[in-house]
Amino acid sequence: MRKIYTFLAVAVMLFSTALASAQEPVTLKVTRGNRDIVNISNPTIVGIANPTDKVTVNGTPVHVYKTGSWGAPLQLKEGDNTIHVVSEGNTTQELKFNMVYDPDYKMPVDPQKVEQEKKEATFYPTNLIVTTKQYAYLNYGAGADRLGGAKINYLPQGIDLTAEAENSKLYRVKLSQNRSSYIPKDMVEIKGKATPSVDFMQDNVVLSTTFSVSNNGNADRVTVRMDKKKPFIVKEYANPHKIVLDLYGVQCNTNWITHYQNLKSIDNVDVEGLDTDVTRVTIYLKSKTSWGYTFDYNGSNLNIDIKHTPANLTLKGLTIGIDAGHGGPKSSGAVSNTGIKEKDVNLKLTYILKDLLEKEGAKVVLSRESDVAMTMRERQDIFIEKGADIVLSIHNNAGGDPIETGGSSTYYRYNVYRPLAEAIQGKLLAIKGVKDYGITGNFNFSLSAITDFPCVLVETLFVSNLWDEEQLADPLMHKKLMENVAAGLKEYLNYCKKAEGIK
Ligand SMILES: [Zn+2]
Repeated sequence: MRKIYTFLAVAVMLFSTALASAQEPVTLKVTRGNRDIVNISNPTIVGIANPTDKVTVNGTPVHVYKTGSWGAPLQLKEGDNTIHVVSEGNTTQELKFNMVYDPDYKMPVDPQKVEQEKKEATFYPTNLIVTTKQYAYLNYGAGADRLGGAKINYLPQGIDLTAEAENSKLYRVKLSQNRSSYIPKDMVEIKGKATPSVDFMQDNVVLSTTFSVSNNGNADRVTVRMDKKKPFIVKEYANPHKIVLDLYGVQCNTNWITHYQNLKSIDNVDVEGLDTDVTRVTIYLKSKTSWGYTFDYNGSNLNIDIKHTPANLTLKGLTIGIDAGHGGPKSSGAVSNTGIKEKDVNLKLTYILKDLLEKEGAKVVLSRESDVAMTMRERQDIFIEKGADIVLSIHNNAGGDPIETGGSSTYYRYNVYRPLAEAIQGKLLAIKGVKDYGITGNFNFSLSAITDFPCVLVETLFVSNLWDEEQLADPLMHKKLMENVAAGLKEYLNYCKKAEGIK
């Protein structure tokens, strides 16, 4: 009995604390945009107030969202400006600060930092044999952005490459006499010094021999035979559907391509010498839609496995991978004006989508199941191991102007998956008020850069946009957003059925 009284007392105490905190007035704050000096006349300032308060900036009323966020573009005159923010509710609060508008003002740069970056990016000659490690990939150039340089494709382990130049992060490697490419230094092991070549062709080029094409159960397999593991550039094209594989340092000597019966994905394979030391293999595909492909060396034979179209193109027949972006103490993703963390919203949305898809009979595989840190490789390995047929990565965007920049966007790496991005984007934009932030192709995101499965990244809304933030704080909107993502996925499966001529 005494236990019950204690429990009740604690419960009453907790309840009254909750009430007290609910009624506690929010202190008026400017959270963003209040810089001392700016070079535009209309910067946006953003702040927090009581959600029920009326807020004015320099006498002009501004919209206060249900989250308590408010924001407005200022109208500054050249020189000194006083900004006066007032919030009125049960109490009146006000803030005053100064901002200078100078159209000629330039953000200061650290010349030492610029010099250091230039030094690190400068290439100098080298002459090494390096060997690819697991997960190695080639880049087209030496440029970089926050997603890294523009990737060409991954390469299997154990391919020897000649490095002819290096900077702090990259080797420039010679693929063939006329083509170079870039590879991150941490993706290779140094094997030793390269012996200077008297005749490049003589010293570096191997011959291709016979190929075969067979049905390997879940995939059709092309086996490309040659004398040594060589690098390659591979690309899948949507229309007509084909995979083009360029083997570098390989001279075409293939006079036999044996096609076995019962091929499901592949129509036929053709070969040509594109250059004296480049051999092009074109894999013409029967299937109109792509379900991923993998490549690996078995000795010096390169096997390319092209996954078959699933027999049942409904959610009942498929395994869907859902990746909740970010996670753990070090990767919150973007954080909203009132403190909503992207990682938390991503996880909530993921579980809602999981429920919706499971109700339709899909098997769902998650990468991150709770608030834990997870590398991109751990995520991709889970989806590969659990046999995901399609992977959706759920994120929320940030950046730009907190009032103007917002909306839904979808991202794909390979053209063949554009229809999936389009279907999801179309459904998200059908929600009232959601802006179009576009469909982005060639997106160099780790999960969509591997070719093992179809993958689209969804940036559901902007955490940094005040209207979007209000939606992301609303559980009903969470449901609506994910219902529409699920509807987009279903629309894509119907598109696939139609394309493949399946009733
Ligand atoms: Zn993110």
